[in-house]
Amino acid sequence: MSAKSKSAARRQPKVQVLRTISALRAWRGELRRKTQPVALVPTMGALHDGHLALVRLARRRADRVIVSIFVNPTQFAPNEDFSSYPRTWDADLAKLAALQVDAIWAPDVKTMYPDGFSTKIAPGGPALAGLEDKFRPHFFGGVCTVVAKLLLQVAPDFAAFGEKDYQQLKVVTAMARDLDIPTRIVGLPTVREKDGLAMSSRNAYLSPAERGVAPNLHRALKECARRLKGGAPLAATLGEAEAAIEAVGFAVDYLEARHAETLAPIAAIKDGPVRLLVAARLGRTRLIDNIGV
Ligand code: AMP
Repeated sequence: MSAKSKSAARRQPKVQVLRTISALRAWRGELRRKTQPVALVPTMGALHDGHLALVRLARRRADRVIVSIFVNPTQFAPNEDFSSYPRTWDADLAKLAALQVDAIWAPDVKTMYPDGFSTKIAPGGPALAGLEDKFRPHFFGGVCTVVAKLLLQVAPDFAAFGEKDYQQLKVVTAMARDLDIPTRIVGLPTVREKDGLAMSSRNAYLSPAERGVAPNLHRALKECARRLKGGAPLAATLGEAEAAIEAVGFAVDYLEARHAETLAPIAAIKDGPVRLLVAARLGRTRLIDNIGV
């Protein structure tokens, strides 16, 4: 290493990367002795500004922040994008080092699911709302199993999740409550690109033409919410929004108005607080988004 690159390496803040359960326990035990609050930010990597906003939120809540990076195979169906999911380890490490997170928990699949692993959490309530679960029936079982493991492994005081995955936030909150997991689940509003597109690791799949079309999803949601607030009828307004989204090239999986807390269907805006939730496919990319009314 040249003298120049040595001094650059010295300037780059170091972040501790933990890869085994025993290393994680040693790290966590030390902080427990110091009674320092810990916040966890679970991610699948391919970090963008939405993830980094979660890290900053975690930092405001706790002395120590640990980010997990684990692409969880059990939440992908065989026909989904587990093997092609973007993996950008070096860039992720640099971003987290720049934010001075205290540690990265980066187990491999065998560490999370050793031979003989045979336990699965079967979430109910918001996990059976008929939204994501209808199109990805395997998804919340996989998410809950991995998040329960992460919460038990790290035993954080707080764990930060994004409203971008709104149903997931409600499912994880219900699971932590139902299982008496002593971690406070904290939600963060969706971080968006300047043109309104919700940031997502999967946006990397969009072709330049699709990237130009993608912000129409959020635009249609915003317009729908505006009209509903103004007293427009629910079913017809949702139908028009869906038609507008399909007209620009999306295939809509669902566009629904739900109770913002329970995710139960609602008959009218007065039954709220209301959340609009959408999932739609653009070419090979499936995008989700949601907003409050
Ligand atoms: P993922 O890596 O996609 O599993 O996401 C990890 C966490 O980041 C989840 O809690 C997501 O809800 C959250 N997240 C992803 N995208 C965004 C975004 N655009 N704004 C806020 N949070 C996000």
